[in-house]
Amino acid sequence: MQKAIFLDRDGVLNHEVGDYIKRFEDFILLDHIYEGLKLFSNRGYILIVVTNQGGIAKGEYTHETLFKIHDYMLSELRNRGIIISEIFYCPHHPIVSHCLCRKPGSLMVEKAISKYQIDPKQSYFIGDKQRDIDCGEAVGVNGILIESNENWLPYAQQICLQV
Ligand SMILES: [Mg+2]
Ligand SMILES: [Zn+2]
Repeated sequence: MQKAIFLDRDGVLNHEVGDYIKRFEDFILLDHIYEGLKLFSNRGYILIVVTNQGGIAKGEYTHETLFKIHDYMLSELRNRGIIISEIFYCPHHPIVSHCLCRKPGSLMVEKAISKYQIDPKQSYFIGDKQRDIDCGEAVGVNGILIESNENWLPYAQQICLQV
């Protein structure tokens, strides 16, 4: 069994702008994320991003834009020795169609748990919305609720010191 850190995207890894990130230019990684992600990796946690991207269903941006943003994010992190195992995203929005994956639904987390053989009890979900915490806790993952764009390094240090 592996232990994992689940990460929301907007407001946790990149700057939350109060709206969907619709353009590549608006995607800005937060400066404080690297040290915490490295710390988790060094302690043997795998890193998984779980993000709602309902703006796709609403036609505000495309899968292609999202892929470009995610490729950029993965390569910026890789350049610093940080590997994200996978990005799970929900492109749906209830005003267009209902789905099972959108947070607070836990399907994306469940998929990750089964694919990567994750022990939820040893794992954490860092998010800036209650729905992030709810989707993790529904399957036994510990939740850490932060403010949008908050520096969560102290939480990472706390988690890693416990072990
Ligand atoms: Mg968020
Ligand atoms: Zn969905």
